[in-house]
Amino acid sequence: MVRRVAVVGAGVSGLAATKCCLEEGLEPTCFEQSEDIGGLWRYTDQAEDGRASIYRTVFTNSCKEMMCYPDFPFPDDHPNYMHNARLQHYICKYAEHFDLLRHIRFKTLVTKVKKRPDFSVTGQWEVVTQRDGKEETAVFDAVMVCSGHHVYPNLPLTEFPGIQKFKGCYFHSREYKEPEKFRGKKVLVVGLGNSGCDIAVELSTVASQVYLSSRSGSWVMSRVWDNGYPWDMLIITRFRTWLGNILPRALSDWLYVRGMNRFFKHENFGLMPLNRTSRKEPVFNDDLPSRIACGVVVMKPNVKEFRETSVVFQDGTVQDDVDVVVFATGYSYSYPFMEDESIIKSRDNQVTLYKGILPPRLEKPTMAVIGLVQSLGPIIPTSDLQCRWAVKVFQGRYGNSTTLQTDYITYMDELASAIGVKPNVLKLLLTDPQLALKVFFGPCSPYQFRLMGPGKWSGARKAILTQWDRTLQ
Ligand code: FAD
Repeated sequence: MVRRVAVVGAGVSGLAATKCCLEEGLEPTCFEQSEDIGGLWRYTDQAEDGRASIYRTVFTNSCKEMMCYPDFPFPDDHPNYMHNARLQHYICKYAEHFDLLRHIRFKTLVTKVKKRPDFSVTGQWEVVTQRDGKEETAVFDAVMVCSGHHVYPNLPLTEFPGIQKFKGCYFHSREYKEPEKFRGKKVLVVGLGNSGCDIAVELSTVASQVYLSSRSGSWVMSRVWDNGYPWDMLIITRFRTWLGNILPRALSDWLYVRGMNRFFKHENFGLMPLNRTSRKEPVFNDDLPSRIACGVVVMKPNVKEFRETSVVFQDGTVQDDVDVVVFATGYSYSYPFMEDESIIKSRDNQVTLYKGILPPRLEKPTMAVIGLVQSLGPIIPTSDLQCRWAVKVFQGRYGNSTTLQTDYITYMDELASAIGVKPNVLKLLLTDPQLALKVFFGPCSPYQFRLMGPGKWSGARKAILTQWDRTLQ
């Protein structure tokens, strides 16, 4: 019987894990190495070891109605997209509301997680923690790994010949906090992910020139979509997912490319993705096209080589007098506290998890990795449903399921069906047609996964019927 659960990390995933354990009558102990909750969303002026680090102006890419915990909507007066400080405030309110803080041990670093000798029978783990230099060991029936995935920089300097000769300064985007000290400088940002775009756009307001280098391009979407509504409330709907599944691939690809090029033609801006029909996560930036159009951000292909003060690009162009290079080259996964890291990470640095949650090689399914799956959808409701599913697995109560899906709604529905919480649109059509239409044609908001079944929230129906009111407010 699983009873005691160790939760590693008190970011949005760790809080969801702690709450789901409590809902199911388990005893969670959440270990957080830093002094507070929030994880990535708790901004600090200095990057801290082992915790994600964001720049001062990070705003959410997902709107409030789509990225909330499914039983805890954002207050009506919050804007649709939020500054990190506002989201952090919401996270604190969530923890307070569900009385989670007393289950969290702050300033406690998990240093080792290892199988007990009798793991194949008990599924138990030994968890070693450190606080104020004091080490403690405790035994848990299950472990939920919520340690975040934007922590360990991926900085492949060997792929950039000549970087050792480069006399300017260079650093990973994790170290970037604010633009002021780059005033008047010529800056190259390498990488067209969300961080790379945000940083390039922000620096373009103070730098003498910004170059943005991309290997393979990317679709760039705007938070503000058709008629000014939040992109995700219009795009992440059951109706669209259904349409995508029934249309022939060629037609669905054509519609996709057309939709992505709706506001500006990506090839004219040097942004066209090499694989235009791949549903790789797009970048969200409302300002990048206009910064390019104004010439303050100049798109460049991949870097061929660095020289002492200049940079040569794959297309043969050379930019002289570059002062600063920001490598926005993403992150790699790491679980330094796992005695055997290969339980989660396979040889080639890839993570292969059943349903994007369970390490597949374990004799007993008593470990869950939360928040790692990437889809177009927001992380908070995804983590919440993953935790609810994982807790049922720990308790040996879950239905059969087949493959891992990363399409947001398909993935969420798959987890939800397994634990009996998927909204039944047909049944709703007979019993509550108004709600059924909102569920099918409207945004697939998180409340849908707390409408019925175990963990049902009595406020879910009202939250769905009023989601557009809060958006407009
Ligand atoms: P984290 O927030 O990283 O929290 C992990 C916690 O674990 C930290 O507090 C850390 O201190 C703790 N920890 C780690 N190791 C240990 C250990 N060994 N012992 C004890 N404690 C430990 N997602 C969205 O859905 N919408 C967005 O708009 C969005 N914007 C983003 C913008 C940026 C710039 C970035 C980088 C990411 C964004 N994301 C967004 C994704 C983001 O990762 C998630 O929103 C979310 O923060 C992940 O939460 P988490 O709890 O899984 O991890």
